[in-house]
Amino acid sequence: MSQHHTPTELERLGSMPLPSADELAGRFPLTPNPAPASQSEYEQVMGELSFGSRFTDHMAHMLWSAAQGWHQREIIPFAPLALSPAAAVLHYGQSAFEGIKAYRHEDGSVWTFRPGYNAARLNHSAWRMAMPPMEAEDFVASIVDYVRADERWVPSEPGSSLYLRPFMFASEAFLGVHAAQELDYYVIGSPSGPYFKGGVAGVSIWVVKGFHRAGPGGTGTAKVGGNYAASLLPQQEAAERGFNQVCFLDSYEECYLEELGGMNVFVVMADGSVRTPELSGVILEGGTRSAICRLLRDGGVEVREEKIELSALVDGISNGTVREVFACGTAAVVTPITRLAGEGFDVELPVGESTLAIRTQLTDIQMGTAEDPYGWMYRIC
Ligand SMILES: *Cc1c(COP(=O)(O)O)cnc(C)c1O
Repeated sequence: MSQHHTPTELERLGSMPLPSADELAGRFPLTPNPAPASQSEYEQVMGELSFGSRFTDHMAHMLWSAAQGWHQREIIPFAPLALSPAAAVLHYGQSAFEGIKAYRHEDGSVWTFRPGYNAARLNHSAWRMAMPPMEAEDFVASIVDYVRADERWVPSEPGSSLYLRPFMFASEAFLGVHAAQELDYYVIGSPSGPYFKGGVAGVSIWVVKGFHRAGPGGTGTAKVGGNYAASLLPQQEAAERGFNQVCFLDSYEECYLEELGGMNVFVVMADGSVRTPELSGVILEGGTRSAICRLLRDGGVEVREEKIELSALVDGISNGTVREVFACGTAAVVTPITRLAGEGFDVELPVGESTLAIRTQLTDIQMGTAEDPYGWMYRIC
């Protein structure tokens, strides 16, 4: 029994049909790196996969100017950028980014997950930051041509992937405050290991008061660096107290859960139903959140997108009406929350069955070991 759910704008745009990778390939012509990583460097990086510290031989690039629109599509050697010190992004933060992965399946083929969704979200973020949209086909082609050029960097061990980071920013050299007339778009990639080394471990969360990552009418629904910058100080304070991550509350009353610095939150009730904070115009609409809602609903689980009051959640954890809490996002997929604390409370939770089940269901689709009834997977090569 599937519950009715009206698709959000991102879900609607994100499920529009895309041309195949073969049809898109070649939009971003390749200039090969004359000095790619040597076989021993390559083996060293692939032998001890980390996250976000080592990058591949190439990157995708595209320019935008008010006069020419998006142009100069290319795959070029990965290298430091030459940027004017007056580039607007360095001063006013006009930028946006995405996070998406390339997965190697058992038969050697390489796939990505809902690229149309990420294309639509980058355009949403760009809109909020007064930057122009790009065609979904250009976004997907940049990933196709980049990953095809650096295919050897897509790892094959279970749980690993090539983490892709598309991003765009105001490169115009101008200190006046206006929407830039020149932008750069890049895609870089980092071969990444399973997020949980040695099994799925839980994380501890500090619920912050007094600091917010975003507010009503702000940039919370856009995937932008400024939101992350706003989360760093509370994150640092939480780390000093011994916690892994912070969870933010609404900025009117500080009593409703929003999300972590870079992941959405779910609550599993003792009756098996699941709740997640509603899309309030402040939280980021995660593709993982969307996929989990769909999988749960189609599996007959009741999912409620609603306000989640912190005090009721803490009471529920203490009296057993709340069974599990987890966070989700592309990088970590699904992360159990095993400790939740803030001013005046500190409660613990198990790594729960429902959390592990939904994580397995999603990663099986992504790794190609389970059927994909939704057409979420897109073959790159
Ligand atoms: C990227 C991000 C998420 C997760 O989005 P996914 O599409 O699931 O990766 C959640 N919250 C914030 C603030 C984010 O930046």
